[in-house]
Amino acid sequence: MLELFSSIGSIRGIGPKKEKIFNDQGLMTVEDLINYFPRSYQDRRLITRISDLKPGEEALITAKVLIKKAPTNYYRKNSPLSLLVGDDTGAIEVVFFNGRFLSKLFDQNVEYTFYGKVSQNYARFQMIHPEFSRTGAPDDIRGIIPIYPKINGVSQKEIRRIEQELSPLYDDIPEWIPDKVVKDYRLADIKFALSNLHFPTDGKKVLAAKFRMVFSELLVMETGLQFMRKGEQDIRDAIVISGDGGESLMKDLPFELTDDQLKAWKSIRDDLESNKRMNRLLQGDVGSGKTVIAEMAMLSAVRSGYQSVIMAPTEILAKQHLETFSRDFKKYGITPKLLISSMPAKEKKEILQGLKDGSVEILIATHAVLQENVKFDKLGLVVTDEQHRFGVNQRRKLSEKGEGVNVLVMTATPIPRTLAVILYGDLDSSQIRSMPKGRKPVKTTHTSSEGRERVYEFARGKIKDGRQIYVVAPLIDDSDSIDAHSAKKLFEELKSKFKGFRVELVHGAMKQDEKDLVMQNFSEGLVDVLVSTVVIEVGINVPNASVMIIENAERFGLAQLHQLRGRVGRGSEESFCFLISDSDSEVAVKRQEIMCSTNDGFEIAERDMELRGPGEIFGTKQHGIPELILSDLVKHIDVLEKAQIAAKGILERDPALKDEENRALRAKVENTFGEDLSLLL
Ligand code: ADP
Ligand code: MG
Repeated sequence: MLELFSSIGSIRGIGPKKEKIFNDQGLMTVEDLINYFPRSYQDRRLITRISDLKPGEEALITAKVLIKKAPTNYYRKNSPLSLLVGDDTGAIEVVFFNGRFLSKLFDQNVEYTFYGKVSQNYARFQMIHPEFSRTGAPDDIRGIIPIYPKINGVSQKEIRRIEQELSPLYDDIPEWIPDKVVKDYRLADIKFALSNLHFPTDGKKVLAAKFRMVFSELLVMETGLQFMRKGEQDIRDAIVISGDGGESLMKDLPFELTDDQLKAWKSIRDDLESNKRMNRLLQGDVGSGKTVIAEMAMLSAVRSGYQSVIMAPTEILAKQHLETFSRDFKKYGITPKLLISSMPAKEKKEILQGLKDGSVEILIATHAVLQENVKFDKLGLVVTDEQHRFGVNQRRKLSEKGEGVNVLVMTATPIPRTLAVILYGDLDSSQIRSMPKGRKPVKTTHTSSEGRERVYEFARGKIKDGRQIYVVAPLIDDSDSIDAHSAKKLFEELKSKFKGFRVELVHGAMKQDEKDLVMQNFSEGLVDVLVSTVVIEVGINVPNASVMIIENAERFGLAQLHQLRGRVGRGSEESFCFLISDSDSEVAVKRQEIMCSTNDGFEIAERDMELRGPGEIFGTKQHGIPELILSDLVKHIDVLEKAQIAAKGILERDPALKDEENRALRAKVENTFGEDLSLLL
């Protein structure tokens, strides 16, 4: 007997091969398939008379089989089957190429329904490979037809048949939205929703079903996020940092802060001085100068007698910060320390000791700092760099290393206000939109592969002038199924194309210390051309690198392209970015246009959102946001607001989600957020 958790292979008519196709799509259980919803619906209620058919249009006809011309050669698998079918107004030919199997499904003088595109062969109208059913049969293709997201190797008709097969199981699915919420928001119940999504009969009911599913998806997300965030906000007895570190550092800098930096600093200083804890997001493009603001805040913490830590997403970035911080803090007699997982045990032990006894005042770390055994004496401020690389939970864990700790998160991926609220709760936000003086915008050009040699020629010229070059490819290895450049192959080619220069390779499958070594060499100027995958996306600051070449640019999203481009243009030299792509897909061309026309990350983020919708931007668990399948955070922003309020109400009534009526919701939330959350619940 089928159960919700049965494997897909246990459904009638699905063998191991088909099961694998589903599994490859992430569909493992019967329940997964029940939650596999149509992408759209097609209204196939209207029958077209054969005399009204027009070539090139899709149409639904009902017609009797007048002549059945069986396959000429029965033993040839592909021998076509030709039917002449007619209604009161005329006749049309229906052709199937795999005729041998289909022939027996059609009987003369019986009426069938066909749906397909009409084509013209000389004077005769045809339908080639239409969908069909016996008129009035249970699998009748007339009606409102759900169109499921395409799965290669499984037909729409088959998915519909399977969904039909699974519909009796709807009774086993518990309602996970608490009763009160269902009533307050007049939501359709789960059984109604499932039936109407898979077997639509009328447009209004489908809309009610969709609203319910979107609402419940957002409710689960909001309940989980708000649960994790509980207690994070509105701490009144926060640590007060009133030291004058920021002002001292500002005076000693070799440059003047930009207006935006100054404004951000003022807000941060006010936050630090108040007894309400700081919870601030600092957004600014790569190279806009966020690090120095973090340094100012951290020096203030030291001056007030508190420890502070900055957490970076990669070891290389942490090491780079160590260099900067050590240089900048030397004159104050402060020695920043590093904590990363790859360091020798003895050294690590010393650092842990120093954190515990308070002698380490400034720590630069990777997520290694999140481990249980890392304890601080007097932690007053935590900074998260490149926040978009961390999950909600990691940020929370870091701030819980002390009590009433002030929090500053920095990101180079600008996000609109509404999404910031979803991602970071009730965070205050500061933006650095202007670049430091003297920084020249990166000149960006798009070219097809034909222009590649000229780009290389240009790059060679720059190397001769003493500059360094990045070349980025989307893949590590060549692939049979994906037609795109691989870093390894490119590396081999470029070794000969850049003879006499030092060419190196770095990619994500390399060991950490190998990667670090190559990066280090590049950063010290020992490498001229660095071939890589996106591993350099968040990473090193090499002001001397002035050319970025991106192969198969169409394979990267806008945010990614912008991040990659941000690796150059960090020095005083004029920098260049080349997007190499032969794609003429609409989105790819749009992205290239945007990249070539602006260097402003905020503008790019907005355009990106228009192009893709935020669901995709934040659609990964990496950010601590569950993958949204049905909802679109822009389109459904009003539903989101409702779900936010509903989740708040649920957690106010039942903060631990322990009540019987919230049990199913809790299971859903745990399921969605995974292990991290179940530890807390
Ligand atoms: P990001 O915002 O990407 O973290 P960084 O803080 O690394 O940017 O800054 C990039 C470079 O710009 C650093 O070398 C930094 O010293 C320099 N910088 C920061 N602010 C200014 C400024 N106001 N004027 C000139 N250079 C600056
Ligand atoms: Mg930075």
